[in-house]
Order: sequence, then C-alpha cells, then structure tokens
Amino acid sequence: MNVLLSGGPGHGQVVETAGGETLLWRACLYERTGETGRARREEMRVYAHRQDCCEPYGRGAEDGCE
Ligand SMILES: [Zn+2]
Repeated sequence: MNVLLSGGPGHGQVVETAGGETLLWRACLYERTGETGRARREEMRVYAHRQDCCEPYGRGAEDGCE
C-alpha cells in the first residue's frame, strides 16, 4: 500500500510499504500514526518522522536529517 510521509527529509513523499509499524526512507525512520492524509487524490495512512531517528540509530547525518 502507499503511505504518506510527514516531517523530516521525506516530508510529502509517497512510498510503498507492506504496512509495518515503522518504515525506512533513505536514512530516516518513520513510524505509523493513526492519521490519514491526502496525496495523489487518494487517502493514505500517514507515517511520521521519528524525532529520535537520527541519534540512537546513527542515521541521517549524510541526508541532513533534522
Ligand atoms: Zn530522520
């Protein structure tokens, strides 16, 4: 299914996922939320950028993760 990313470097991107609790977009970790958003004329679930994605996981430095 397609989901919409919210926040961080991937904000506004639509990506395909099998539907787990989290997904990885480039260097960033996104987490499923209960919200839906609209993109490409579809309603899709929103995955939010995790605040802690860059530090504990050692990700994001090269992609300029906030
Ligand atoms: Zn990140």
